[in-house]
Amino acid sequence: MPQVPEELQKIIEITREQNRWRRLETLNLIPSENVMSPLAEAVYMSDFMSRYAEGKPYKRFYQGTKYVDEIETLAMKLMNEITNSVHCDLRPISGTLANAEVFRVLANPGDKALIAPVQAGAHVSHTRFGTLGALGIEQIELPYDPENMNVDVDKAIKMIEQVKPKFVVLGGSLYLFPHPSKELAPHVHAVNSRLIYDAAHVYGLITGKAWHNPLLEGADIMTSSTHKTFPGPQGGAIFINDDELYKKISDTIFPWFVSNHHLHRLPSVAVTALEMKYFGEDYAKQIVKNAKAFAEALAAEGFKVVGEHLGYTKSHQVAIDVRNLGGGAKVARMFEDANIITNKNLLPYDPPSAVKDPSGIRLGVQEMTRYGVKEGDMAEIAKFMREVAIDKKDVLEVKKKVIEFRKRFLSVKYTFDLDLGQFSNGKVIPLLI
Ligand SMILES: *Cc1c(COP(=O)(O)O)cnc(C)c1O
Repeated sequence: MPQVPEELQKIIEITREQNRWRRLETLNLIPSENVMSPLAEAVYMSDFMSRYAEGKPYKRFYQGTKYVDEIETLAMKLMNEITNSVHCDLRPISGTLANAEVFRVLANPGDKALIAPVQAGAHVSHTRFGTLGALGIEQIELPYDPENMNVDVDKAIKMIEQVKPKFVVLGGSLYLFPHPSKELAPHVHAVNSRLIYDAAHVYGLITGKAWHNPLLEGADIMTSSTHKTFPGPQGGAIFINDDELYKKISDTIFPWFVSNHHLHRLPSVAVTALEMKYFGEDYAKQIVKNAKAFAEALAAEGFKVVGEHLGYTKSHQVAIDVRNLGGGAKVARMFEDANIITNKNLLPYDPPSAVKDPSGIRLGVQEMTRYGVKEGDMAEIAKFMREVAIDKKDVLEVKKKVIEFRKRFLSVKYTFDLDLGQFSNGKVIPLLI
């Protein structure tokens, strides 16, 4: 056996390439991603990742879980504190599984659910093509108001009264403007139904108080991911205030949808919750300012930015229409060649059949905000994007400038300024770079 098999070298090299490229050389503008702090990463790498702890804290089906019980309880306490919620469950290992659990508890196969219109950004898990469909629940879309790029509230109220669904889902993935949870909640409750708000994208904005908190406006359940604007490890969460409803959900998440719940997430979620507690308001406020500045700068550079008449965005996202520049698929590839990472996306007026080459590109500023970019830097990024997609300049030249720009933003802000070595006899495992 060779000392270092060729494949082993390859595995390490691929990992290093990924780390170097995405951590040091690219501008990440994908709205569903983020970067954890070095502190959250340090506690992620732990023995918890090898263990099981089926059941709830202090009521497990395994031995050896005393520290899991402690960390899970602390993580839930911190998450409830920053969310202003009574109960939470961190066991869903993704946002999709959080939705699956909630949908399954609230409805049986054949029951009806109302979801936000796909044009207003509904996630695939809300639809007949995704989790809702897999559970056999019938999907009915709420009416869409193209002028406001949102749910049509008056028509939605009528539909809720007529259909009397088991539940209504708001929240989305291309998500520029808040869905009307406050307006719809009383009408949902009047027909004995439940309002679910899927906060996967905006949870970090909610905990940073830069977005409305649906749990304070009548939503019965909030589901989320923990890795989008909330910059924690990939995973899911469910928040509920009502004791009885919480019990139904927490009693079935295991064994219905999780067995091991990826325990190494728990200390990282707790660290991230603390970061949000102390730095979250500054971070969220800067995200919203950056998104707005980015939209304005992109428009000034000649891009067609969606939602001009509504002020472009209230979230971390901006959407551009690049149909005339070659379409979403091609332009996203051109950006990648210049080390600007984005994703193509259907725009509200695209037919679903355009999914492989939609008109749009969806951009998110949360990760670059975490690296410390401000409004003026967003304008520089918009200029690089014009050079690529509109001026069609030599992409390698732009890439060089992007790599230079990125060098100014390599360390994660909005976290504790600590020497991690002080907790570990100086031995901190660094990323392979
Ligand atoms: C990303 C997303 C999800 C799914 O989250 P995962 O953690 O990737 O499973 C659910 N709902 C919405 C609105 C999302 O944007």
